[in-house]
Amino acid sequence: MICKCGSVISQARIDIGLSICFDCADTPLLRGAPDYGHKTGAGLQLMNQPAWADFKKKTRRSGKRSCLGNVCQNHSTISHS
Ligand SMILES: [Zn+2]
Repeated sequence: MICKCGSVISQARIDIGLSICFDCADTPLLRGAPDYGHKTGAGLQLMNQPAWADFKKKTRRSGKRSCLGNVCQNHSTISHS
């Protein structure tokens, strides 16, 4: 099958009912993030670009890699008296 732009549409796109090529598609691309629903493996959470940016902003790990470092920006100055 040939797209309106003259390119050949891949069989995989035709199989799922699409009638335009990848370059002509205007569907926003999805982004993904790992979703650890269980300790032995992760799933993939698909989301649109704004939701992905919000997810990354809220789940970004900062500071040290320890749990304390992730929640306290200046954990090295905490007094342990
Ligand atoms: Zn096309």
